[in-house]
Amino acid sequence: MQLPWLAQAYNQFKDSYLNNKMSSSLIIEGTYGKGAYHLVHDIVKLYMCSNANENGPCNKCKSCQLINEGSHLDVEIILSTKTQDESAITNNLNVLYEQNELGTVRIDNLRNISSFLHESSVINDKKVVIVQNAHLMKEQGANSILKTFEEPPLNRLIILVTKSFSLLLPTILSRAVKLSIENISLDLAKDYLYQNNVKKEDIDIALALSFNAPLQALNLSRDIITVDKQDYTFVEIVKNVLNLFLLYLKTQDESVIDFISKLAFDKRMLILHEIVLEILKLKARVDASNLALISNIKESELFLKQNLKMRSLFNAHKFLLDLEIAEKNIPSQASKANLREFFRILKI
Ligand SMILES: [Zn+2]
Repeated sequence: MQLPWLAQAYNQFKDSYLNNKMSSSLIIEGTYGKGAYHLVHDIVKLYMCSNANENGPCNKCKSCQLINEGSHLDVEIILSTKTQDESAITNNLNVLYEQNELGTVRIDNLRNISSFLHESSVINDKKVVIVQNAHLMKEQGANSILKTFEEPPLNRLIILVTKSFSLLLPTILSRAVKLSIENISLDLAKDYLYQNNVKKEDIDIALALSFNAPLQALNLSRDIITVDKQDYTFVEIVKNVLNLFLLYLKTQDESVIDFISKLAFDKRMLILHEIVLEILKLKARVDASNLALISNIKESELFLKQNLKMRSLFNAHKFLLDLEIAEKNIPSQASKANLREFFRILKI
């Protein structure tokens, strides 16, 4: 167990498993960036171990060895895929750490769960099925696993992983034990980043732009972004955009549009979204020192409050959301025009 904020959910599973009170169907709520798949990995390892006890898995048995190597024949992972992707079932545990939020969980793969669980196991009489991104199951697919999910065969475990319980059908939800890692204490998250050598002054910004998901924040803070042959850390980029954002509001300086348009689309959207949301919070009288980005330009607090209207901020926010939806259809050279439009809406 390495990530401290997973300890509670992990121990809850461990205690009920070791005391034979465990349900065979589990739903885990959490994202990749919050360590949901680290938790799955640890739970599966404990469950499959031949000598598990209070201290966790033994790390010596055949099962532990196979899981350490990253694949186990008695573990099956149903992946969400785009429709053209055929490799939707695997026992390679490492694919769990890939961030694939797209596509669907295919019904033919879900139908396969029951037969997999009923077949005999290879190592020690146990089997596990994991459904990645279970919120991407269609209703028909979810219904196809209901019966197995309600009563799995003996020594079998089914784990659904979802970014939110609320995205699953009530019939599925009511049949399982639920573990959530959605609400990570801010102190634990900050401490984790600090332990991983993220600079103290960068931690708040990295967390704010990751929706408080510590692993995602760590990745972001390690990002190096090159603009005009110059390397920046992600936090430096955020601070730059903040200052340029203010400059454009005051002077409409074109170099601002030029710099921001050179950032990758998803990064640009992420930063602009957060700036707009923080200004909205500022106008709703949240103290600037509690706003990770705006606290860096605190001297402009009054300017932002006086010059931007609530309605325009909402409209600019909506404009960004629309852009994200239309992203694939917008030619990349339109990014400057889109940025100008964003600022125009903001200043109305
Ligand atoms: Zn073991």
